[in-house]
Amino acid sequence: MTRSYGLTDVGRCRQSNEDAFLEDGDLGVFAVADGMGGHAAGEVASRIAIESMTDSLRAALNGAAPSDGAASNALRKAVSLANREICESARTRQDWNQMGTTVVALVTAGRHAVVAHVGDSRAYRVRDGDLTLLTRDHSWVAEQVRMGLLTSADARRHPHRNIVTRALGNQPDVETEVTHDAMRPGDLYLLCSDGLNTMLQDDEILGVLETHRGDLRAACEALVDAANERGGEDNTTVVLVEIGDLGNVDVSGSDRGAAHDSGG
Ligand code: CA
Repeated sequence: MTRSYGLTDVGRCRQSNEDAFLEDGDLGVFAVADGMGGHAAGEVASRIAIESMTDSLRAALNGAAPSDGAASNALRKAVSLANREICESARTRQDWNQMGTTVVALVTAGRHAVVAHVGDSRAYRVRDGDLTLLTRDHSWVAEQVRMGLLTSADARRHPHRNIVTRALGNQPDVETEVTHDAMRPGDLYLLCSDGLNTMLQDDEILGVLETHRGDLRAACEALVDAANERGGEDNTTVVLVEIGDLGNVDVSGSDRGAAHDSGG
């Protein structure tokens, strides 16, 4: 049986929590959104994203174990629709016109975890004691690192580290990146907002997860506590998904190997 748990925390420095998350173990749908825009607009944007994607994915996936292709299509449509809803809401109030949000979402589909993301919220996978980052940050510093213009260490301290290069709510069309990851029993997936990975290094995140292996709630609480002890400069949100036995999963619906694609 696949188990999951999610937790969000305002942190030690911010007045409000602009993160939101979705954790639906029955449907196998999980997401984290990290809003931005000032004057509480970030809270509105991330909430719209999560509510809209919850509705879309429940409608698209309910009652059927999706193939990973179907999950990928459902995720792309859900992100696209959420983007449009945020854009429309942003036009209704002057103080919402700069609002936007990141999103990272994971759907378990047969033997694959299908991950969709926009912005710098992340998905990781723990397997055999290794932590693997499954997403590429859509952020200015990450792009500089990929071009060899900044080191990872520089990026962590850079004054522009909060600038995302893709977000929901900015333009009528958003480019969603989708990753397909072949699951194994015992895999642990982590979705998080950047409040976690800017406060903690990857090896520290792995250390917390290994310490609390088997207790998802304790692991989520320990991750948030560790981010706060390090300063808690931002809101922190974590969702953990532990993959159970895949023995009775129908693999005939699986139509892709491990793959990575990007597009609108
Ligand atoms: Ca954040």
